[in-house]
Amino acid sequence: GCMSFDPAVAVSSHHGPELVAALDAVKKAARVCEAVQHRLVAGSTLEKGDKSPVTVADFGAQAIVSHLLSRSFPHIPLIGEEDAAALRDPAGADLKAKVVAAVREVLPDLSETEILDAIDRGTHEGGPSGTFFTLDPIDGTKGFLRQQQYAVALALVVDGQVTLGVLGCPNLPVDDADPAKGRGVVAWAVRGEGARVSPLGATAVDPLFVTEIADAAQARFCESVESGHSDQSTSAKIASRLGITAEPYRIDSQCKYLAVARGDASIYLRLPTRADYVEKIWDHAAGQCIVVEAGGRVTDVEGKDLDFGQGRRLERNRGVIVTNGKLHEPVLAAVQAEMGP
Ligand code: AMP
Ligand code: MG
Repeated sequence: GCMSFDPAVAVSSHHGPELVAALDAVKKAARVCEAVQHRLVAGSTLEKGDKSPVTVADFGAQAIVSHLLSRSFPHIPLIGEEDAAALRDPAGADLKAKVVAAVREVLPDLSETEILDAIDRGTHEGGPSGTFFTLDPIDGTKGFLRQQQYAVALALVVDGQVTLGVLGCPNLPVDDADPAKGRGVVAWAVRGEGARVSPLGATAVDPLFVTEIADAAQARFCESVESGHSDQSTSAKIASRLGITAEPYRIDSQCKYLAVARGDASIYLRLPTRADYVEKIWDHAAGQCIVVEAGGRVTDVEGKDLDFGQGRRLERNRGVIVTNGKLHEPVLAAVQAEMGP
């Protein structure tokens, strides 16, 4: 098919070809996620607690992104959240058939083998040197199932640093203050080149900037909807220390990074709920790049930069603190006062 090449996007970018391929891949994957989610609304037979629709979209999105990237960049490995073992198992035949059908909605010529092999490309181990892509095919699966927010999150990591990030957010309002503008955005950033956003399915491109808020009491913060993913009672105490009176903005997935990057919120708190949980790189790489390029800051709860060169997980970090930059020191101080050293 014809790549939806947007010349305004790639002009003079240090990562022009990677960016064009990443945007095309994320948009096509987002289209499959939307189609699966619409069927989820339409289908009345779905049992409560049935996770199979998100599984179909998850595998489908990874197949599409991985396959398209492998065409343009066969030598750049991928760290993806999923692998195809469950689909290769005879017990997964039904699921496999659904994934193949979903992928063929946007890539009609792919064989079953190509689809499974594309999913299985995502097993790279990462590390401090070299170049790889990292993908969360559906970040925010719980939000997807609730018909709320989720994101297709793709990033390029070079020698442990994120150099490109793309977030496809099919359900996110184009303008948080104006529902009439519809839903669905894609945001991206190349390191050193700023962050941008565009409605999915439109060509208008706008730069992204964090808020200018310097008084924490005036800020709004976002956090996970899922209390198992971030400690909401500690975040409430931190907010109160900072004099924040606005209710927390609870939203699934890396849409939180985009909320800070575009100024819907000025702070994103992700506070550990368990001592043994280590964050995954695909849950943060794209969002980190976009926030930093929009003028914000991203660290862990101790104030350390996120280290994407430690393999598939952020082994050297605990929790994540995202701000508009101006608020970073006061927020970190409140986090540390509340959580202890
Ligand atoms: P969110 O939508 O921000 O709640 O985050 C979704 C992500 O949380 C998923 O992609 C998981 O990888 C990740 N996750 C799962 N368990 C935990 C946990 N205990 N703490 C933090 N993140 C988690
Ligand atoms: Mg995720």
